Amino acid sequence: MADSTPQGQETLSNLLHESRSFPPPADLAAEANVKADAYEKADEDRLAFWEEQARLLQWEQPWDTVLDWNPPFAKWFVGGKLNASVNCLDRHVDAGLGDRTAINWEGEPGDSRSITYAELKDQVSQAANAITSLGVTKGDRVAIYMPMIPETVVAMLACARIGAVHMVIFGGFSSDAVGQRLDDSQAKLVITADGGYRRGKPSSLKPAIDEAVADRPTVENVLVVRRTGQEIEWNERDVWWHDVVDPASTEHTPEAHDAEDPLYIMYTSGTTAKPKGILHTTGGYLTQVNYTYSAVFDVKPETDVYWCAADIGWVTGHSYIVYGPLANAATIVMYEGTPDTPHKGRFWEIIEKYKVTIAYMAPTAIRTFMRWGEEIPAKFDLSSLRIIGSVGEPINPEAYIWYRENIGGGNTPVVDTWWQTETGAIMISPLPGVTSGKPGAAMRGVPGVVADVVNDEGKSISPGEGGGFLVIREPWPAMLRGIWGDEQRYKETYWSQFPGLYFAGDGAKKDEDGDLWLLGRVDDVMLVSGHNISTTEVESALVSHPKVAEAAVVGATDKVTGQAIVGFVILRGGEESVPDELLQELRNHVGGSLGPIAKPARLLAVPELPKTRSGKIMRRLLRDIAENRDVGDTSTLTDSTIMDVIAKQLPQKSS
Ligand code: ATP
Ligand code: MG
Repeated sequence: MADSTPQGQETLSNLLHESRSFPPPADLAAEANVKADAYEKADEDRLAFWEEQARLLQWEQPWDTVLDWNPPFAKWFVGGKLNASVNCLDRHVDAGLGDRTAINWEGEPGDSRSITYAELKDQVSQAANAITSLGVTKGDRVAIYMPMIPETVVAMLACARIGAVHMVIFGGFSSDAVGQRLDDSQAKLVITADGGYRRGKPSSLKPAIDEAVADRPTVENVLVVRRTGQEIEWNERDVWWHDVVDPASTEHTPEAHDAEDPLYIMYTSGTTAKPKGILHTTGGYLTQVNYTYSAVFDVKPETDVYWCAADIGWVTGHSYIVYGPLANAATIVMYEGTPDTPHKGRFWEIIEKYKVTIAYMAPTAIRTFMRWGEEIPAKFDLSSLRIIGSVGEPINPEAYIWYRENIGGGNTPVVDTWWQTETGAIMISPLPGVTSGKPGAAMRGVPGVVADVVNDEGKSISPGEGGGFLVIREPWPAMLRGIWGDEQRYKETYWSQFPGLYFAGDGAKKDEDGDLWLLGRVDDVMLVSGHNISTTEVESALVSHPKVAEAAVVGATDKVTGQAIVGFVILRGGEESVPDELLQELRNHVGGSLGPIAKPARLLAVPELPKTRSGKIMRRLLRDIAENRDVGDTSTLTDSTIMDVIAKQLPQKSS
């Protein structure tokens, strides 16, 4: 994209102006875990700041060098040794917190389980003993393909305990996608379940594994949790979880692992390209997830009940269902199923039932709830909430306000957290007791993280100057240590655009106060009559119209303007065609908010948008459609039939 930017012109247009801002509630600010001085402290001496955060963990051996930076390769807390599972479990039990609830688990059919820290430690020890007896040792890769049940957390922590590298594969992926990831990682053990409950019925998992492992002899065993009791095929390599884990000893002496020993591999969600196997290591990762969980969610582990609605198959589930919360000895809620089963108020019912105080979910979910109507959450008591968070995509101002008003009761700070599979932990976010949040802005780098926006020459953009490329200037503890098995791709993807800077692939702008607004992926930027226009701003303008629930825009080649903006909208009433009048009204609405340059040339109403399994809009597929091309790789798409439905709606261009 940088190459297509004309000289002397702004990198990315700044069209949207939002002036609302919400200061933190006074009582929250007074009691906040992290106050404004943290920024100064971190600025003064960033490495000393991160050392201070690392000391909050239990180390079996202290590090001798805080950072070894040989760009673009970082090692943090060199020489230090610790065990992630001990930090999430044993040290809390040793501190007398064994009776505290670690997990409140809610199954989709309505069954539930509550597990204390002492019980979780026992289960993880049993699983560690069992997988050791299956021949798994330190450094081996273990694939985890599971529903959202407590055993998934147990399996991850058991791997961490013995130093095996876990690779969680989202339970919705096909056997092909599983197979690719097994090949890539050379996993020795697969942990799965017969199935899990989704949309009111058992959905199977084991058959996809049977198919994927059939011609993959590197997989020595398949460990199977019985969740649904559905009928499954049984093969020679298969072992029931209840046959080997349940009878295993609850005594397990953990070994301390090197700070730089691999903890897990996690694939990116594949919104823009072939998913990348991102490698995370132990000490730096745990330091930053532990710190950011406490700082951004302001968690008081004695009293808070925290729920992250993401799937454990994504990095959000790793960092903010498992490692961050459990390292902090927090009480979490974990839910197996979908938000509309058995009714569209299920999420709010869960918040009411467990008196959830902190909730974390994706903008795509929030926009879906907007579409379903505010009368649904209004039926539940959500007054326990004190902080609500968002992650995964830019949150449009309209969705932010809806979330704050209808879920947060109008007085609950919204933390819009920007980060990636690659960053491992939250990088840019308001701090709920410090920041006056602006709807649509992720605000600024958390203490210790140096985020910036640069122009196409890599020069820092001044406050108020407008948009550019989001970069991270200094290494951070939870940063990826590479792409599994592909050093070259690591260097090219993240470090080749701007020498010495980590390039995130996202556009952003810096407002007059220096606060950051995410503008969507740089690959998706639209070039209209010489202006680089961000998808986020046009989509936000569309969503701010009362008739629009969701929107995605792309640039399609146009003889006159270079690219023309083509918009796909989901109307609030679910209509599948936009009457001409409304079409004109929506175009004018965008023109009125952002200026005539941003007016979409074409708009289509669609019943659904193509999304990744993690709920992100895949604009590259919409671009294929808008330009009459064959649709590209759809392997990470939730529902591939949606592309045909959308294609039918678009009249073919007359050349
Ligand atoms: P791939 O890299 O394979 O295309 P992906 O980028 O969708 O997949 P993830 O690591 O899950 O995979 O997503 C990170 C991306 O999500 C970010 O780069 C950004 O585009 C988007 N994102 C996450 N949080 C936010 C946020 N709060 N605001 C804006 N965008 C966000
Ligand atoms: Mg990405």
